[in-house]
Amino acid sequence: MKSKQNTGGLVYSTEHGKFCPKCKKPVGRCICKQQQKNKISPNDGIIRIGRETKGRKGKGVSLIHGVPLQGKELQAFAKELKKKCGSGGTLKDGVIEIQGDHRERLLEILSKKDGWIVKLAGG
Ligand SMILES: [Zn+2]
Repeated sequence: MKSKQNTGGLVYSTEHGKFCPKCKKPVGRCICKQQQKNKISPNDGIIRIGRETKGRKGKGVSLIHGVPLQGKELQAFAKELKKKCGSGGTLKDGVIEIQGDHRERLLEILSKKDGWIVKLAGG
């Protein structure tokens, strides 16, 4: 029996037009590029709290990847976190940076959000 699943990386077409073999979306709405952009924060629904000390002063920064918010909501949330940690921080490429090591506190805050899966990442 031959499998029809194997598209072999080729763009195939249906009566609806061409589809991207990777994301299975119409080529015009291909999300592959978008996903590549988000490589740093994989969109698997898990929020990761990590820490980075390399090239940073003192305790480094706490990094929060994969927060399921966008735009103004994300900015407001970053602000809220900074306030709760009593620390400064920035929002960069969808990743919230909080100065200092606040992982425990951040885990506590984020875990209280409905439906959010939060994990501490190594570092
Ligand atoms: Zn695609």
